[in-house]
Amino acid sequence: MLPSLFISHGSPMLALTPTPAHAFLREFGQSLRPQAVVVVSAHWESDRLLVSTSARPETIHDFGGFPRELYECQYPAPGEPELARRLARQLNAVPTERGLDHGAWVPLSLMFPEADVPVVSLSLPTTWSNAELAELGEKLAGLRQENILVIGSGSLTHNLYEMLPPDAQIPAWVSEFVDWVETRLAADDRAMLLEWETAPQARKNHPTPEHFQPLLVAMGAGGRAQRLHHSVEEGVLAMDVYAFA
Ligand code: ZN
Repeated sequence: MLPSLFISHGSPMLALTPTPAHAFLREFGQSLRPQAVVVVSAHWESDRLLVSTSARPETIHDFGGFPRELYECQYPAPGEPELARRLARQLNAVPTERGLDHGAWVPLSLMFPEADVPVVSLSLPTTWSNAELAELGEKLAGLRQENILVIGSGSLTHNLYEMLPPDAQIPAWVSEFVDWVETRLAADDRAMLLEWETAPQARKNHPTPEHFQPLLVAMGAGGRAQRLHHSVEEGVLAMDVYAFA
């Protein structure tokens, strides 16, 4: 059975820059052959839960100030409207048409570069409690038995105001939070993770919660966590990837 995944997508430049996280996602993707992907990305925030029924989701370039090369990237993976409509019924989600934001297409373009795995996007209902987000994950857990890969795409740390040069030392306030999450996940201490805002340096690493919240969905969808990758970009963007098997 497939694990569920939490993937840190970092900067959109991950698509083009051969960083350790980029190399990891490329290699890791080769070990997976899912029938479809269901992704919850930090970049589709909503009040109610929405699900994309697009058959041909467009590539959304939802960022500014990057090189033209990045805007020319296309990720033409198909959608899967039938699965999307089924999820809409099961989850009481609102069906809508929507493309793939960069939280979805950037990591998927590395994992499945042929764009031959259908992708269904679910929105991130940011007003939901941590427990409700984990419960959403629990409702998605059954998909893993159908060889459907459930992904929460965010960033383990995400303070864009504190970005440092690529070779900068990792500040203690970043490591402290990263280590806290790793310790709690290794211990499968879900109760503490549902109170992640009380972790050391949580606010500093997440001035807003949307890049951490997808981890709660991935956690709910799977079992015990295993850290598959750890690196830090620009000093403050932890690129950790977790599998929940
Ligand atoms: Zn992001």
